[in-house]
Amino acid sequence: MSLDTLRAQFPALQQPDLIYLDNAATTQKPTAVLEAMQQFYQADNANVHRGAHRLSARATRAFEGARDTLARFINAPERESVLFTRGTTEAMNLLASSLGGQQLQAGDLILIDSWAHHASIVPWQQAAQRAGARLCPIPLDKAGQLDEAAYLALLAQQPRVVILTQVANALGARAPLSRWLPLARAAGAITIVDGAQGIAHDTVDVQALGCDFYAFSGHKMYGPTGIGVLWGRRALLEAMPPYQFGGEMIHKVSFEQSSFNQLPFKFEAGTPAIAEAVGLGAAAQWLMAQDRAALAAHESVLLARARTGLASIEGITLYSAFEDNAGSLAFNVEGEHHQDVGIWLDQAGIAVRCGHHCCQPLMAALGVKGTCRVSVAAYNTAAEIDAFVEALRDMREFLNDDPL
Ligand code: PMP
Repeated sequence: MSLDTLRAQFPALQQPDLIYLDNAATTQKPTAVLEAMQQFYQADNANVHRGAHRLSARATRAFEGARDTLARFINAPERESVLFTRGTTEAMNLLASSLGGQQLQAGDLILIDSWAHHASIVPWQQAAQRAGARLCPIPLDKAGQLDEAAYLALLAQQPRVVILTQVANALGARAPLSRWLPLARAAGAITIVDGAQGIAHDTVDVQALGCDFYAFSGHKMYGPTGIGVLWGRRALLEAMPPYQFGGEMIHKVSFEQSSFNQLPFKFEAGTPAIAEAVGLGAAAQWLMAQDRAALAAHESVLLARARTGLASIEGITLYSAFEDNAGSLAFNVEGEHHQDVGIWLDQAGIAVRCGHHCCQPLMAALGVKGTCRVSVAAYNTAAEIDAFVEALRDMREFLNDDPL
């Protein structure tokens, strides 16, 4: 499929004066996703699982069909271990609360990478505090990569849980999952992967990855907001206590006691985000119909072009611009506040993200308050990257121009 044809499927990109390079925050949605959600509300809308009527049966089929699609999308061994959540944040809260409450003991060690998002750090920090456990960051080496020697030394202390971010949202850097996950499991740790950024760029096979849990958000992979997935190993999920309580997740309730439903419903209390799940199923289907390798190669070319362009402008600091970055590059402009750079680019119709990117510990390690982040998706073009680089060059020239 040509880039023009692919791009034409995204209505939001058709508006004038918009160069959307904030895809790590959220992606735009293709017509296939928008239509699936509209079709659900127009024709199939009813509550799921408990209705005696045909419409409810249709809604249930659409919702559970989305679960089947998502199980295929990540190659989950069975559909019951694919849980719908509100997104990666809720998945991490679920794990920290349920698994953390069950597994952590005083003195236990939890490892987390230094570029983790607050959505991974804070729930586990809270779980550690409740249990008297320690949350320890895996440091960065001098090149800005995760430090393997330090990781090996930390694994020797037999951590209970290891949390790795597949792709760092603030940097675009990739964690060495295929090497590091087996090491963590061999050390006896439960492994959790934050796939919020990775899912849009890499084809994910949870069985091949070999982690115990994998979490992602729909809205970063061309799907809707308010929906995501937590996949977990069945035996662990079966043994974990529920996270939230209410309708759907119960088996029998009396005023004295309750028993709980089987997987996946045990972890899905209340009316779920039905249309959003259907939309996410459509997004997964849309991605599976693409040549994923070609999309990834296109994104790499765009990132390389951005890297070369940024490096050609004096006074730009690039953070962790590794060759194998996925989706994002982070930078600052010498003497300029990152927010000012974002406002300048916005004046040129270019959307990027500026700030701490929900990674304050990483910003502290980098010695900055924040950065600008340019992030690409499959629909971006080389011309858009060039416009972004030229707008920054103009900014430097304008600000360096002596008014007298
Ligand atoms: N982890 C990473 C790496 C992310 O990029 C994000 C979103 N910025 C999250 C977790 C949280 O995802 P959400 O806000 O969709 O729950």
